[in-house]
Amino acid sequence: MPAGKHKSGHYRKIFVRTPGGRVTVHYRERKPQRAICSTCLKPLLGVPRERPAQMRNMPKTAKRPERPYGGVLCSACMRSFLREKARREGQ
Ligand SMILES: [Zn+2]
Repeated sequence: MPAGKHKSGHYRKIFVRTPGGRVTVHYRERKPQRAICSTCLKPLLGVPRERPAQMRNMPKTAKRPERPYGGVLCSACMRSFLREKARREGQ
């Protein structure tokens, strides 16, 4: 019988085959949702989907693309935003 905390949906089930050949259920915390673009809400590429403890141990360059607004806007939205910005400054 699983412990009460394992019945909540907060954990995901992992079926692990033991050295003896039995299959047991292990419980792991679910990964967070994918990061999304703040304007078009599409999932961002190059942003890992990991638990905060793993994210903390990861180098900053592995956590988001190395470009202006990397990890906030997708590449298409970043391009159109920079274009709009340049047009506004030109006036
Ligand atoms: Zn976008």
